[in-house]
Amino acid sequence: MTLFTTDALEGRCLPLFINNEFVPSQGQSFPSYDPATGAEWSSMPDATADEVDRAVRAARGAMTSAAWRDMSQTDRGSLMYRLADLISQNVDRLSRLEVRDNGKLLKEMTALTHAVAASMRYFAGMADKIEGTTIPVNKPDMLNFTLREPVGVIAAIVPWNSPLLLLNRAFSPAIAAGNAMVVKPSEHSAASILAFAELVAEAGFPPGVFNVVTGGGQTVGDALVRHPEVDKIDFTGGPETGRVIAASAAQNLTPAILELGGKSPNIICADADLDRAVTGVVSGIFAAGGQTCVAGSRCLVHDSIYDEVAERLVARAAEIRIGAPTEADTQLGPLALWSQVEKVGRFVEGAKTAGAKLLAGGGRAEQMGAGWYVQPTIFGDVTNEMDIARNEIFGPVLGLIRYSDDEDMIAKANDTRYGLASGLWTNDMERAMRFMRRINAGMVWINTYRSPSVMAPSGGYKDSGYGKHNGFAAINEFTRIKTVVIDYSGKTHDPFVMRVQS
Ligand code: NAD
Repeated sequence: MTLFTTDALEGRCLPLFINNEFVPSQGQSFPSYDPATGAEWSSMPDATADEVDRAVRAARGAMTSAAWRDMSQTDRGSLMYRLADLISQNVDRLSRLEVRDNGKLLKEMTALTHAVAASMRYFAGMADKIEGTTIPVNKPDMLNFTLREPVGVIAAIVPWNSPLLLLNRAFSPAIAAGNAMVVKPSEHSAASILAFAELVAEAGFPPGVFNVVTGGGQTVGDALVRHPEVDKIDFTGGPETGRVIAASAAQNLTPAILELGGKSPNIICADADLDRAVTGVVSGIFAAGGQTCVAGSRCLVHDSIYDEVAERLVARAAEIRIGAPTEADTQLGPLALWSQVEKVGRFVEGAKTAGAKLLAGGGRAEQMGAGWYVQPTIFGDVTNEMDIARNEIFGPVLGLIRYSDDEDMIAKANDTRYGLASGLWTNDMERAMRFMRRINAGMVWINTYRSPSVMAPSGGYKDSGYGKHNGFAAINEFTRIKTVVIDYSGKTHDPFVMRVQS
């Protein structure tokens, strides 16, 4: 019987996972809460520095073991297909663990867990298609080619909002390319990642290929990031943490992928199909309670349609069904953390003081008792200077910002320290093309929103981070290029002159 179900874990403490074994930690444990009720449900340990070291050494051991290093690429892919099948067979159990930890809707987490299996299959198929190139250098009698090699031990640091999906953005390409991994899940949502670890062992991956250490960011996360045997860091989280991690990583010159937050514009032009556009804005900010890095939290609206859009959005917000995340017809569940509820409250008060007009919501959803629910909230008359427009809230709070013409629109859209995603609703394809070129963001959605694909690179500009997940770009992140030069001329050359020319 597995320990990793919501019932079995009730009141229990999570273990660590090192070398394909679940081991109890010697570290202090701390509670994990169910956001739907506000009650404690399980706990997890703060792994000790020694345990972090053991996990990293286990991953290093896998990288040097014949079982993993010499496994054929095709066999690596086969293990990933097997793991993807196990995930598909366990979608409901894995999704319920995520919902218990982070309070997001079961239907959303179920869709994301299916997507984890699907994207694992996408990368499994790539495992034996990773190629170097032959370079026709300007030197006769020389062969010059590149090898693409695994980077080594990858440290993945994951936030709470979509634990398996965000872990797998690193896991699948990294493992397809032959790396080994240590993951530190969020201190708020580790259960599904340990359940995933159990399936990794069941699929038949050699010991040490995948390891899990739980605990806090400043303790376990910091020890992992600073470990000298870590070859690359894959971090998803907030920009402030991203800066700390980049600084820690610099001590060992460890490269990093940083997937950080956003304050993405979702823009409605005067010529847009308003039904689709308003639905797109609702989906951009109120789906997942706004707890998504690509939340379209700034809605830029053309002056001529501003009043109509505001009216429609307020009407839509009033219809959103707030309820338990496991109920099939719930549209807005609780926020994952009590500190997030308080943060939303601070932004709401700040926006009122700054002169924004509260059009909908603005408080807790009291009917949900002790659960961590807040109402879908809309502010009108927001300007780009206000805190509510400048900082990521990570909650269901939308700010409406007016614009006058396309120049004003692009200037306001780009006036942010972030650059993760952007959306534009228009039927004018020339306008869409101009926007696509000039927006300073890593992802552009036109007449759609929140539509990522495992096959297309994703990642941010500016304070939204650097590096790419998904698509072949992710394989590039988890491989390094070695250049090999072979001289078959049989000649001896002047030893004091570099052979820059033929
Ligand atoms: P966070 O930055 O607080 O924590 C993220 C992870 O970093 C956690 O596991 C945490 O324990 C760890 N951590 C914290 N301090 C650390 C340190 N000093 N050293 C090492 N690890 C440390 O973020 P969060 O609140 O868990 O998640 C929300 C944030 O994540 C939002 O800003 C959101 O936009 C961002 N996010 C980005 C993407 C993306 O793809 N760009 C996706 C999801 C979430």
